[in-house]
Amino acid sequence: MTRLISFIVFLFALVSCTVSQTTTTQATKTPPNIIFLVGDGMGLSQVSSAYYFGEGEPNFSRFKTIGLSKTSSGSHKITDSGAGANAFSTGKKTYNGSIGVDMDTLPLKTITEELSEKGWSVGLISTSSITHATPAAFYAHVSNRRDEEKIATYLLNSSVDIFIGGGKKFFFERKDSTNYFPLLQQNGFVMDTTSLSSPISDYSKRYGYLLAHDGMPPAPERGNFLLDATKKAIEYLSNKKQPFFLMIEGSQIDWAGHNNEAEYLIQEVLDFDKVIGYVLDYAQKQGNTLVVVTADHETGGFTLSGEHKIGPYNKQYDDYNSVKPTFSTGGHSGAMVPVFADGPYSELFGGVYENTKIYELFRMVTGLK
Ligand code: MG
Ligand code: ZN
Repeated sequence: MTRLISFIVFLFALVSCTVSQTTTTQATKTPPNIIFLVGDGMGLSQVSSAYYFGEGEPNFSRFKTIGLSKTSSGSHKITDSGAGANAFSTGKKTYNGSIGVDMDTLPLKTITEELSEKGWSVGLISTSSITHATPAAFYAHVSNRRDEEKIATYLLNSSVDIFIGGGKKFFFERKDSTNYFPLLQQNGFVMDTTSLSSPISDYSKRYGYLLAHDGMPPAPERGNFLLDATKKAIEYLSNKKQPFFLMIEGSQIDWAGHNNEAEYLIQEVLDFDKVIGYVLDYAQKQGNTLVVVTADHETGGFTLSGEHKIGPYNKQYDDYNSVKPTFSTGGHSGAMVPVFADGPYSELFGGVYENTKIYELFRMVTGLK
């Protein structure tokens, strides 16, 4: 009898110990911040160009986990940036040109909307207009990405805590003649339309920076805009004392690809790489920040081939001692794009998978399911 009682007591102790241990683990394990960097149009050759044309070792080398993302959309083998961003923000393969809506144009809840409801802070940065497809897919729900004025209305009413990019005209020179400046202020945004230089004084407020009429100028003309915007957003979000999700887009890698302008493309990739370096420094110091870098698709069919030369006896050959950027299209391509991850849960991003898996992993690490 005594032995039975002590066995029961032992069992009870074991169970309560396990329970309390689980509770402690859950209570102490804060979900990581996520910094998600999207190099629009950045395929593997674009990444490689940083190695051939940049100075020093690119920051891409600092990642230990690399994956490959399959980018096809719900409507086409080759995606556009709307459907590409929807895969990240909603986990659904949608049609080209769609923003935050499904194949039937019905709204899909985005990960940032869900995270906001759970108390997370959300930041969006872009070198295009902030109403352009990639950032828009995180807060807007429109059937056609070209409707940037309607997308601006969604941003006005969004739960985004900080946004930085171009696109003044979609807020201040609208066809409906409504000036969104006072409306943004009424909706709680402290607005700046001139520079990033004024310090953030109140972390309980929301901040909006619209710094170009449409897209921001190209690199290197825009200086350190993307790096400074990243510093500003991280400084703000990390002071809010709650986990955050920050999306940073290097938009113009795609634009350079469309233009088949190699020098422009390389400058954009190098600018983006500089931002990756800063983000990794922050994340590694902070300790609980997941960093994921990828692209929505590749643009330009960009390659680094040997320079075409004419040798003795008029024989044509490719000079393998040189690397010459070349393009095969003015549009996007269907090539897989690399995914680089660092920080907590980063090992989950290794492998070959559909672009929608990135959304699923974000949900998992943030405890949304
Ligand atoms: Mg984009
Ligand atoms: Zn494009």
